[in-house]
Amino acid sequence: MKSKNRVAIIGGGLSGSECAALLLRMGIEVTLYEMRPKRFTEAHKTEYLSELVCSNSLKSNDRSSPQGLLKEEMRHLGSLIIESADANSLPAGESLSVDRILFSRYITERLTAHSNFRLIREEIGEIGEISKEYDALVIASGPLTTSGLLNSLKSFFPQENLLYFYDAISPIVSFDSIDMNYAFFGSRYNKGKDDYINCPLDKNVYDQLYNAILSAELYSPHIDEDLRFFEGCLPIEEIAMRGYKSLSFGPFKPVGFGFDKKDMPYAVVQLRRENRAGTLYSLVAFQTRMKYGSQERVLRLIPALKNCEIVRYGQMHRNIYLDSPSVLNRSLSLVSNNRVFVAGTLSGVEGYVEAAASGMLVALSVRSLLDNKEFEPPPDMTAMGLLYRYIVGDLKIGKHFAPTNINKGLFLHNGEKRYHERLAGDAIERFEEYSSAIKNSLLISA
Ligand SMILES: Cc1cc2nc3c(=O)[nH]c(=O)nc-3n(C[C@H](O)[C@H](O)[C@H](O)COP(=O)(O)OP(=O)(O)OC[C@H]3O[C@@H](n4cnc5c(N)ncnc54)[C@H](O)[C@@H]3O)c2cc1C
Repeated sequence: MKSKNRVAIIGGGLSGSECAALLLRMGIEVTLYEMRPKRFTEAHKTEYLSELVCSNSLKSNDRSSPQGLLKEEMRHLGSLIIESADANSLPAGESLSVDRILFSRYITERLTAHSNFRLIREEIGEIGEISKEYDALVIASGPLTTSGLLNSLKSFFPQENLLYFYDAISPIVSFDSIDMNYAFFGSRYNKGKDDYINCPLDKNVYDQLYNAILSAELYSPHIDEDLRFFEGCLPIEEIAMRGYKSLSFGPFKPVGFGFDKKDMPYAVVQLRRENRAGTLYSLVAFQTRMKYGSQERVLRLIPALKNCEIVRYGQMHRNIYLDSPSVLNRSLSLVSNNRVFVAGTLSGVEGYVEAAASGMLVALSVRSLLDNKEFEPPPDMTAMGLLYRYIVGDLKIGKHFAPTNINKGLFLHNGEKRYHERLAGDAIERFEEYSSAIKNSLLISA
């Protein structure tokens, strides 16, 4: 009898876990190397697989939006990440938010219960040796990959193909410490039930808050380099620097709550529920690199948060990614070694769900390699197909390759002038056809 193929994955985050789950469904033996809890990244706090390091929101679940469409496509392929998110969701309007502990515990339990799955809690610093032991190796070590592993990776391509950007997380406060005399429950445009806490600000408080954000003390990187941020997730102070109204017309806009014009506050700061118990709330779009003392001063200017207990402070991190169009084949493996694959944010996608989606793409490609078949990616103008085309360099946006999440812009490479719901409907039809065909050809079990 033919022995089972063996694949190793480095990194048990969103992409590594999703990749493992799909490989297992294709009858492959998976060994997952995860360094936690022996060593933690600067952002991870638990030993669970697929830990969400910042927001507990997986963004929109509305299948007519690009983010909702991506989730729907992943459901068609049987995504473990989305299954867990659906099973552990919290009320959050039209977005898919989860209890982060239940979410990652579910994934950990599902994977570790599988007889073909082996979890080794070990940091990997050298990929040369490990890649020889397995039929294929997937590097899914994420934006906070350890320096040892990065050095080893660098031997596979020129140094200038290793890129970086900076990213920050938002503070979380305890519900008990929020003064609800100055806040109210409710979602913008009534999307969902009372899933958010909203803190109205008058112009005077907004001015104080805005000025405090601008004058806050900020952490700077220890190395001398440009601070490049991901545009889709800018720290609050970076947004503020773009102008006085950048917050009141941006994340703090007071619209959608049904206020009469005369009662309309100048701005509204929102908090999103963090756990099922409803004991924790995170500040929406408040990712920051302010020093802790400044964060306390700034948050306490918001009347409802004047006595708030910050249970997790905002922090900035350096994120690593590869210049994938230069270093990856169309099979998502390294040009210099076609049995070493790269998944997740390291390959230039941004976002929890996007990272997981790329884990699925890599799993399909690994199976194709092991079957001596050419990898057949999802079709163009589907969410997964567009992410794939972006990673391999078919879609170019801007001068340099930079990480992308799934967004409306990716759908406009084909002559479409605007994104509209019809595109999502067509994409789902196309994806259903693809997913039935690929399940048959690669023998993916339910
Ligand atoms: C600070 C920060 C905040 C973010 N906030 C958000 C957000 O709010 N929303 C969002 O959608 N996206 C966010 N992202 C972006 C991205 O979606 C997440 O980082 C996501 O978890 C990436 O998935 P991944 O699988 O690529 O990496 P990860 O989920 O980070 O998984 C990588 C895993 O590899 C392990 N590892 C690393 N090096 C080694 C090694 N040498 N040996 C063994 N194991 C190793 C790590 O411990 C980790 O478990 C954030 C990123 C960062 C860094």
